Amino acid sequence: MMRETLEGLSFSRLEAILAAAEVNPVHAHAVFGAVQRRLLGTDLKSAQGILPPVQRWLSGEAAIPPCRLKAVDETPSGDGFTRKYLLGMADGAEVEAVQMGFPGRFTACLSSQVGCAMGCVFCATGQMGFTRNLTAGEIVAQAHHIERELRRTNPGERLRNIVMMGMGEPLHNFDPVMEALGIITDNRGLNIGPARVAVSTVGYVPGIQKLTRHPMRYSLAVSLHGVSDEERGKLVPINQRWPLSEVLEACREYSAIKRARVFFAWTLIRGVNDSDDHARRLVDLLRGMNAHVNLIPLNPTDGFVGQMPDEARVRSFQQIIQDAKIPSTVRQRRGIDVNAGCGQLKSKRRSKQTLYS
Ligand code: SAH
Ligand code: SF4
Repeated sequence: MMRETLEGLSFSRLEAILAAAEVNPVHAHAVFGAVQRRLLGTDLKSAQGILPPVQRWLSGEAAIPPCRLKAVDETPSGDGFTRKYLLGMADGAEVEAVQMGFPGRFTACLSSQVGCAMGCVFCATGQMGFTRNLTAGEIVAQAHHIERELRRTNPGERLRNIVMMGMGEPLHNFDPVMEALGIITDNRGLNIGPARVAVSTVGYVPGIQKLTRHPMRYSLAVSLHGVSDEERGKLVPINQRWPLSEVLEACREYSAIKRARVFFAWTLIRGVNDSDDHARRLVDLLRGMNAHVNLIPLNPTDGFVGQMPDEARVRSFQQIIQDAKIPSTVRQRRGIDVNAGCGQLKSKRRSKQTLYS
């Protein structure tokens, strides 16, 4: 069982913890502001506005420790658009967090698990297997790390968007992810608008259903990659448990109940799912739905032989989707020179170590 950390305490949880430690919960405002807005988790005791009763709690047995994430590796990219961090946690596990974007539009891509149990064949994280879930504090602390770096390198700027598209399947770690997003969107903290938070899932249907009933209205992104159960099942093994029809039904329900557009991710793999025929069948699947398609040319990984399509193929695929009046974007492979694909920094570092040790 991983311990609770300061970064993972929602405002109401913090009030309850202070009350249980016989500290007046009125101090929650000062503590939450210091941790979540001023990002002083590790220096809380000496922070301005932290009064003796809280200092005594912090020195005592009932104190909740900060989540210390250590930057183990960092890759500034040549394009100035992506910066990727490998962050080490208390037990030595490592996850990736990525800063993307430009002034006014900075986005953090966060991890939800160490590794992933879903085993998608083209994904570096899937190729690692599953180690453990992250705690709410470990998820929030990734956002803090990126926000801190932003404040240092781009004074006056702040994080505007969060995407749960790093390592792991966020809906397979539902409660800690929702807890973390509740804290990140709290207007006493980082104050990121819920509409600017996207949760990406491989199509874990029970999780989509839970998200539909969750009070917050985050953006939903669903990774499809295949138009038939046969084709999708080869890339995304959990399609055998939750087939396409069930995934799309859960998306329709989400869209209807939340009155929201659903974002569909399609990783384009040369000769596998990138033909005009695939594009037309994708259009058929999404007909009548409030949908947006994100096309991602494959980032090559060591564990998968597939290749990315050339630009002309990508344009042709996108044209068919556009002609059907479905909005779409091609996600720039901006990180490719720094291995910014999901899980790739970590797996690259691991293979380097095996090579030289
Ligand atoms: N587990 C969630 C979120 C993390 S993966 C999900 O699968 O949606 C985020 C996105 O990166 C997914 O759309 C996934 O399909 C895509 N992805 C993973 N590996 C990739 C690769 N090697 N090249 C291109 N896209 C990849
Ligand atoms: Fe897990 Fe997503 Fe990678 Fe699939 S694509 S293995 S669900 S992180």
